Amino acid sequence: MDFLLKQGLVHKLESLHAYVGCTHPDHPHASQFLICDGCGEVTEVENARVAESLRDAGQALGFRAKRPIVEVLGTCAQCNAKRDE
Ligand SMILES: [Zn+2]
Ligand SMILES: [Zn+2]
Repeated sequence: MDFLLKQGLVHKLESLHAYVGCTHPDHPHASQFLICDGCGEVTEVENARVAESLRDAGQALGFRAKRPIVEVLGTCAQCNAKRDE
């Protein structure tokens, strides 16, 4: 598993104590994960602006961000639709 992590083929989700396969392992990237607490669906998004902001925020404090992984908890579109029915 360490090998896969280092290759960037999987990401570790701390809040779920789980690993997810990367949706774009072809290049190194910072990731944000949208985690649905309804169905458990995890969606990986790659937003350079979010990553940059995090890096800047860290840098302002002298912190060097190595793996700016963001886990966002909420409900996915499907669960929202179900809830609104
Ligand atoms: Zn990824
Ligand atoms: Zn959901």
